Amino acid sequence: MKPKSYFIFSFDHRTLPELGEAALNRPPEEIVLTGGPYGLRRTVVSVRVNPSSPYRVAPDGDGALALFLDGARIADVGLPPMPEYYRHPLSNGKSVMEVAPTIQWGYLIYLTVFRVCQYFGAKEECQYCDINHNWRQHKAAGRPYTGVKPVDEVLEALEIIDRHDTARASTAYTLTGGAVTSQVGGKDEADFYGQYAQAIEERFPGRWIGKVVAQALPKEDVQRFHDYGIRIYHPNYEVWDRRLFELYCPGKERYIGRDEWHRRILDSAEVFGPRNVIPNFVAGVEMARPRAS
Ligand code: SF4
Repeated sequence: MKPKSYFIFSFDHRTLPELGEAALNRPPEEIVLTGGPYGLRRTVVSVRVNPSSPYRVAPDGDGALALFLDGARIADVGLPPMPEYYRHPLSNGKSVMEVAPTIQWGYLIYLTVFRVCQYFGAKEECQYCDINHNWRQHKAAGRPYTGVKPVDEVLEALEIIDRHDTARASTAYTLTGGAVTSQVGGKDEADFYGQYAQAIEERFPGRWIGKVVAQALPKEDVQRFHDYGIRIYHPNYEVWDRRLFELYCPGKERYIGRDEWHRRILDSAEVFGPRNVIPNFVAGVEMARPRAS
């Protein structure tokens, strides 16, 4: 079974020490739900570990895995197969799962090349994001967790995937990580993330569709992403409501501001084409309890 790789955020509802066994047993990256009393169509669900959840995955009477809600069986459960390329380490001993994990049942290679965010602390970090916390907790637990992934390592991991993914299940890669508000290794956000796309496109031209999840950047920077070979641009609206944007995204509000953020997303469609700009919302934050202040 393919284990959870903690590819960017933890998404868990507790810290690793609090999760104890639940984390040590390496839960699966995803599960697939089908059938059951509601005749569910095949749906892949990303796993979040929450010991107090009313949902449980366990064997049913016949020994097949099922999803239970408060003890009632509601779906059949399938587990993701361990991809062959996860069994082949890089020359420095790192695993492909650490450097270039795949998610969404293997189609998307998730390259979190910068595992911290330069919006730092309560006054800057987006309030729903645990990227910096996730970095600290993996370091504290002694897990391998590379802060800035060297380009050569990423290329070597992709080489292994390309060699062993004979069914060509992987069709796209995502470059992402924390926001770069100043520089990383002397590069701003567009050049930092762009350098990986450039190297990948030179080495494996057209093998995967390149996507970047990044901040809403000025149009010139967005153009550089495109010039580096990225084909899908994925900034996020975060949360629509003005007051909630200010509360939940204090760093983005202070450095850029909501109106400019939106303007940049709209402008990027002129560079990538509207269908290749795919901003998301962080669903559900409207329902979180407002901040105390
Ligand atoms: S900018 Fe992105 S990585 Fe940084 S705190 Fe906000 S959501 Fe997290």
